[in-house]
Amino acid sequence: MTEMLKKNAKELDHNFRYEISEKVGAKSLLKCIQCGVCSSGCTVTEYVDLQPHRVVASCLLGLKEEVLSSQAIWTCSLCHRCTERCPKNVDYSFILALLRNMAVKEGKIPKEYSGTVVTIYDNGFVVPYTGGLKDNIDRRRNRMGLPQILPPNLDEIRYIIEETGLGDLAKKKEGDK
Ligand code: SF4
Ligand code: SF4
Repeated sequence: MTEMLKKNAKELDHNFRYEISEKVGAKSLLKCIQCGVCSSGCTVTEYVDLQPHRVVASCLLGLKEEVLSSQAIWTCSLCHRCTERCPKNVDYSFILALLRNMAVKEGKIPKEYSGTVVTIYDNGFVVPYTGGLKDNIDRRRNRMGLPQILPPNLDEIRYIIEETGLGDLAKKKEGDK
């Protein structure tokens, strides 16, 4: 169960709701009536620290730190069920993607995700295609008559990572190793 959180008004970020809602496609946040339909149909509701309607409420209340640090924004499978079911057309799944972007900009990203960026930056693959794993894959593909996997164009991949704003993250993690 979510612990009771006590904060006084000065600790709230009253601009947070506008910081989100002014972004293209996110204005619907302000229409939430806290009916809870999004949470009742959410496919991961029992695994999150903050259920969807609570994330929306927290955004509206100005609990920026709590929202951007929650695992709820990363546990979502982006199935869009909440968005489809919302009676007020709040595009929660889209807003959640925005929250992820905001969290990343503040350096709040689970290591599983940042690790994936680093792996892609270093290898061009989500899972490194090297060593024993490579031998295994090659053998199976060979058996099935499939062509060899071509090496990825790392320059292009790194260019895309830089352009999407993830370059610093990849390099920072690279330096951390
Ligand atoms: S279903 Fe829509 S209106 Fe209801 S709590 Fe969720 S976001 Fe708010
Ligand atoms: S998009 Fe995310 S929050 Fe919405 S129902 Fe699916 S898993 Fe739940």
